[in-house]
Amino acid sequence: MDIALLSLSSCLGCQMVFLSLEEYLYGLIGENRVVYAPFIMDRKELDHADLALVEGTVRNTEHFLRAREIREKADRVVALGTCACFGGVQGLADLYPEYRLIKSRFGDTAFEGGPQGVKRLLPLDSFIRVDAYLPGCPPPAALMEGFLRAAVSGDRLSREGATVCAECPVTSPPLPQPGPRRLTDGSGEPGKCLLESGFICLGPLTRDGCGAICPSGMGVPCRGCRGPAGRVLERADVEAETSRRLARATGRKEEEIRAEVPDPAHTYYLFCLAEPLLRRRRSGGTSPYLHRLGE
Ligand code: SF4
Ligand code: SF4
Repeated sequence: MDIALLSLSSCLGCQMVFLSLEEYLYGLIGENRVVYAPFIMDRKELDHADLALVEGTVRNTEHFLRAREIREKADRVVALGTCACFGGVQGLADLYPEYRLIKSRFGDTAFEGGPQGVKRLLPLDSFIRVDAYLPGCPPPAALMEGFLRAAVSGDRLSREGATVCAECPVTSPPLPQPGPRRLTDGSGEPGKCLLESGFICLGPLTRDGCGAICPSGMGVPCRGCRGPAGRVLERADVEAETSRRLARATGRKEEEIRAEVPDPAHTYYLFCLAEPLLRRRRSGGTSPYLHRLGE
């Protein structure tokens, strides 16, 4: 099988995980051919790939043209990482008008003659057809290995998952607890659910696959880096649902909880603000946070 690995606008973290697969990677490149991977090999053109792993977001016309080219030349395209699947942290750029972002970062003369930016940050499948998704910021190595094993053997690549909570081996503390709390407000009790301890933990709304490494392995709340679980994309309001659960855990009113979170876009949609399914113009959509087009 011919494999291509391509980055659009990204931190290259997903490709670093790919390179970290060590023993599995040696076998993979021994039995297959990596035909295009500008980050790791000096090959300028792609002729054809059976499988293309595309990391990052489309931020400008140059990225769009690269994405379209890869779609034309690859039999199967995988959105690799949360940027490609849901827009990732780069989706937060939609909080501000583009001219303001560019000016504040690079000054008045920045990008003269450079590629034109896209009007709206969006996931990869808003620009080209995508055959499978592997979200994660970055995807855990074990998950990527399992995904690649399935991909090269031709198995079905996508799956509907459960949530991070389903993988989190914690018990509930007595209620009520203080909150809403963040990492800077102290730490939870080992082995106790962070959300029920008053912390803003997005585990109930985030897709599984990471083994709940943050809450159960490190004692820190889930920030949602694997992106929204399938059912959340379809109908849940992440902010309202989390506030409701925190209200129960803390014995406080939901409105009070909401009022004490001054940065809801960063808190609840850090990795998925660009996801159009969450943008619906209804109470609970992300549209109110998006100012880029004057919405
Ligand atoms: S700590 Fe977070 S991820 Fe774990 S069960 Fe509680 S809400 Fe879910
Ligand atoms: S627990 Fe949440 S933030 Fe941590 S790796 Fe898993 S999905 Fe990402």
